[in-house]
Amino acid sequence: MDKTFDTIILGGGPAGMSAAIYSARGLCETAIVDTCTLGGQPSNYMEIDNYPGMMKLGGFDLAEKFEKHMDMYKVSKFLMQEIEYIDLRSEIKVVKTKEHTLSAKTLIIATGARPIHLNVEGEEKFAGRGVSYCAVCDGGFFKDKVAAVVGGGNSALEEAMYLTKFAKKIYLIHRRDEFRADKVIQERLKSNDKIEVIYNSTVEKIQGDEVVKSIILKNVKTGENSLLEVDGVFPYIGIHPNSELFSGQLEQDAKGFIMTDNTMNTSVPGVFAVGDVRNTPLRQVITAVSDGAVAAVYAGKYMEAAVVKQNV
Ligand code: NAP
Repeated sequence: MDKTFDTIILGGGPAGMSAAIYSARGLCETAIVDTCTLGGQPSNYMEIDNYPGMMKLGGFDLAEKFEKHMDMYKVSKFLMQEIEYIDLRSEIKVVKTKEHTLSAKTLIIATGARPIHLNVEGEEKFAGRGVSYCAVCDGGFFKDKVAAVVGGGNSALEEAMYLTKFAKKIYLIHRRDEFRADKVIQERLKSNDKIEVIYNSTVEKIQGDEVVKSIILKNVKTGENSLLEVDGVFPYIGIHPNSELFSGQLEQDAKGFIMTDNTMNTSVPGVFAVGDVRNTPLRQVITAVSDGAVAAVYAGKYMEAAVVKQNV
């Protein structure tokens, strides 16, 4: 065993870094573990304009500010770690990565979520050759090209608008005739004349040669198929929680999101879940950082209560 911490935080996005700041600032021995570098999903957002006090900031810049803030405190970082297993059964929780065996009195799960795939023919084949799940990473490849964005939520609308910085035309394909995105985002979309919305349609197939050339759309009202020539496809049809490591160990909802109470405690005492991986009613950076703060404070209270119990 490498070391026993007070708190291990799994995941270095806004929720995880906020938890780390609160935990280390509260003088708990804190470790943060991530399969990648720090930053999480916002690192891929073009712009964040609903984080109070920041007005308008690139997602990457905000993530960098969180990391700098975290670095003011003593937080042990274990990045680019391949996690082999997590054991939540005993009082001391164990996180085994390929290189380390870490243990802690409390665990805060901030593993976030990943994009759901369309699961249509051609999606896997053309991944990285026209199919992308990250407009910020790949938008530059679509200069003066035509791309399709799929979905009707905040991500689809925001990323469609972002892509118009490069692309000459964006088709926004939505399976209904009403968006679920916030009204303010819908209003912004209306004033973007590079975006054409195709309602009541789903993508049935992605085709091309070396790269994407076209997609087959199905009108869900008429059942008719049509061909649309595009150079790229950006599916933004929702997210799936990164919670598989905890299956069978923690209570989850039908979609795999980890159930918590309002102190972020999961079904296992001393194990907390924060941000997009939990069953939260709102998935934003502001709610993720709030979750992180609540979890770190209640992890501290859990450890204090355990000490009191020992001394009785
Ligand atoms: P989302 O809100 O769940 O929206 C997913 C969209 O994809 C919905 O419009 C849905 O259609 C559509 N969809 C789902 N499955 C589909 C399929 N198989 N084929 C075609 N379309 C499909 O997901 P999201 O936009 O990725 O956002 C995830 C979370 O992050 C949300 O809570 C969102 O509010 C939050 N977020 C917030 C911001 C912000 O505040 N600025 C930015 C990005 C994301 P239906 O509408 O018909 O169900």
